[in-house]
Amino acid sequence: MYVCGITPYDTTHLGHAATFVWADVAARVLRHLGVDAEVCRNVTDVDDVLDAAAAERGAEPDSFAAVQQFRFDRDMTALGVRSPAHEPRAHTHVGQVVTLAAALLESGAAYLRGGTVWFRGQGALTRSGIGEAAAAALAAEFGQEFGHPDAEHPADVPVWRAARLGEAAWPSPWGEGRPGWHAECAAMALTTLGPALDLHVGGEDLRFPHHAYEAEMAEALTGVRPFARAWMHVGAVRLDGARMAKSTGNLVLVSDVLAKHPAAVLRLLLVDRPWARAWDFRPADLDAAAARLDRLYAAGARGGAVGGSAATGAVTAALLTDLDVPAALDVAGEAGGDAARLALSVLNLG
Ligand code: ZN
Repeated sequence: MYVCGITPYDTTHLGHAATFVWADVAARVLRHLGVDAEVCRNVTDVDDVLDAAAAERGAEPDSFAAVQQFRFDRDMTALGVRSPAHEPRAHTHVGQVVTLAAALLESGAAYLRGGTVWFRGQGALTRSGIGEAAAAALAAEFGQEFGHPDAEHPADVPVWRAARLGEAAWPSPWGEGRPGWHAECAAMALTTLGPALDLHVGGEDLRFPHHAYEAEMAEALTGVRPFARAWMHVGAVRLDGARMAKSTGNLVLVSDVLAKHPAAVLRLLLVDRPWARAWDFRPADLDAAAARLDRLYAAGARGGAVGGSAATGAVTAALLTDLDVPAALDVAGEAGGDAARLALSVLNLG
């Protein structure tokens, strides 16, 4: 499993938490079946947005990122998210992006203009079934350029970008530069897990441009299709009708919720719903989640399950039905006993 991780420039909000808790649930359900789920979750610690956020606070990007990473790890630990087996960092994969860029140039999937290696990106639009206007709007949400004057086609994106004055840069055959965002994840995934993934997880907003370009680059490099056999794009968390995002300041921080509520209550609130669907966070729903969790604990404290092994089988069957956590918890609450204890244990709800 490759989980598209954080850019450590901000404290974890509920939108991040939903993605990483759902990735954790997917891995735990697989392990419950006896599958040896190997999780790789990257850290995008070379990023223009990160550099800008650090500069705003008068900090060095590296030390700033380290502090944010520490807070993220603390929040994930509190939420019961198991540490990934691999945690590659963009910083230590710059050389792999140079290798990727060189190979894409060699095959003609990319071209060089003024120190920048441009990836031919029309395939990313085709893959996503979107036109240029929609692609431009989605790219702009991430501060990504679309239709750069140097590019041969508006959909082309940098695998490697020539450095601007004053920013951190690395050497390459094409001069000093920086890795492109999508190329970073492609390089980290390919280096860590090889040419194909069983499952790629990330927030719904990353479907395009980030994951579409990442997959296109990986497939152009290796010829192995599909790069990801399954995608899990986790639904956005909204506040007052708008998606939580740093750019709008429309945020609820994990640490603020955990100051007032047990972590298991927040974890339950995040997963007691269909994983792909966007939803609205309302503080009162934490009280409802706490009450539901209490009923599940009470059910787990009862003796043998009503329905015995059929009930534990029904919990597993619900989880295997597109990770239907609400249905699994309904069975667990009704049957009690082993079924409730199984659901609480697989979902790591304490
Ligand atoms: Zn990514």
